[in-house]
Amino acid sequence: MELKICHLYPDVLNLYGDRGNVLCMRRRLEWRSIGVTVEEVPIGQKLDLAGCDMLFIGGGQDFEQEVLLEDLKGEKTANLKAAIEDGMTVLAICGGYQMLGEYYETWDGTKCEFTGALALYTVGSKERMIGNLMFQCREIGSNVVGFENHSGKTYLGPGVRPLGTVLDGFGNNGSDGREGARYRNVYASYAHGCLLPKNPLLCDQILRTALEWKYGAVELAPLDDSFETAAHDYMETRLRH
Ligand code: GLN
Repeated sequence: MELKICHLYPDVLNLYGDRGNVLCMRRRLEWRSIGVTVEEVPIGQKLDLAGCDMLFIGGGQDFEQEVLLEDLKGEKTANLKAAIEDGMTVLAICGGYQMLGEYYETWDGTKCEFTGALALYTVGSKERMIGNLMFQCREIGSNVVGFENHSGKTYLGPGVRPLGTVLDGFGNNGSDGREGARYRNVYASYAHGCLLPKNPLLCDQILRTALEWKYGAVELAPLDDSFETAAHDYMETRLRH
């Protein structure tokens, strides 16, 4: 078995080392002798998702997101939406998450049209939502720990469910108790950290989604996650009230 991961905008959307999520997915595949290739798609390069099994897009500042708008419009958006509807697995973090939505309205009223791949939208606020984040993720039967830093408040629309329920921190908007988004094989979250190394169950769930989309039912060989679990449990204990 093998997977091809497309890393979109690694040159611009890499806030808090979000590229570490791609390294984590690569390693957990390689440790299981599953082939993996990573194709980086910077600004200006065509986004050809034919043959791609997964796509990763990280976070960035408002300015960096605005820089990308022109490049993202047109063919990139059409290819991304078609691949998501076709079932391609996506992991999107914070700014990358927001860009999957219909629009982002900055706190001073500037409206940026985004891809519209998912029925959600984001409204910028003057307050920044910064700090440790922990949420319950029923899909993996575990809590997820991370770090968030965003001013955008995201609201989910029809057909989009949350990735989890906030236990500590703000999550999507600091008011509805929802964190992240799930739609078809898309996983989206505000959690930096980066997210996956301290949350091996979530990483494996995402890898399993991509492998099953390509090969049908798969069993992932267990790994020695003692180090990852120790890091996860330390934060979970620290954040548990
Ligand atoms: N610029 C967006 C916001 O502030 C996303 C930030 C991020 O990716 N951490 O809401």
